[in-house]
Amino acid sequence: MDFLDETLTAYIERYTTSEGQVLKELNRETYSKVLIPRMLAGHLQGRVLSMFSQMIQPKQVLEIGTYTGYSALCWAEGLQKGGCVHTIDINEELEEMVGRYIEAAGQSNNIITYLGNAADIIPTIDETLDIVYIDADKENYTNYFNLTIDKVRSGGYIIADNVLWSGKVVEPVERRDADTQALVAYCETIHNDERVENVLFPVRDGLLVARKH
Ligand code: SAH
Ligand code: CA
Repeated sequence: MDFLDETLTAYIERYTTSEGQVLKELNRETYSKVLIPRMLAGHLQGRVLSMFSQMIQPKQVLEIGTYTGYSALCWAEGLQKGGCVHTIDINEELEEMVGRYIEAAGQSNNIITYLGNAADIIPTIDETLDIVYIDADKENYTNYFNLTIDKVRSGGYIIADNVLWSGKVVEPVERRDADTQALVAYCETIHNDERVENVLFPVRDGLLVARKH
């Protein structure tokens, strides 16, 4: 999972603003209580999402894949007044914890959580979106792009996480599992779609940032 060596990672985090008390606590509780905690964005990636949000100043953000709420809280940091992060997850076991941290961060008025299958919920969200953050089941990334692109405003962004998949995306084709194949296919689709321009940021496990013309 680590692309850079430990010393370099420590240096990068040293010169990246702290994640703040509530996120630090959420990070800690996720690692002590929840399955697969490395899915949580964490210090560096979280500050990148927060910085993007503050640069874009979105009114409406759609996040697919809430998990314990860490990245949703980061996206909320750059919202315009009255703006909203809509975040979807299929796992009801995390609902209580997510709600508790949204409350602790004072973001209850700015984040709406949706419980269920993202492909069913996306069509019910009737908003013009400034940012879509795709971070759920990898096999559906392309579906999520297709389901959201028409809702994104011109100049808006669709950002997908884990597109490097710990480096598996550059392994020989015959060794790629279904998730790896889906992530490569997603990058191909975005790269060949004339509605967007794209940059793959090698932040943590890779963020593919696509901007709609
Ligand atoms: N964005 C989070 C991490 C998300 S982990 C963070 O950075 O902290 C991926 C999440 O996607 C998991 O919580 C999983 O339950 C959710 N997920 C997987 N398949 C889904 C689906 N079909 N619909 C909605 N959520 C899904
Ligand atoms: Ca992720």
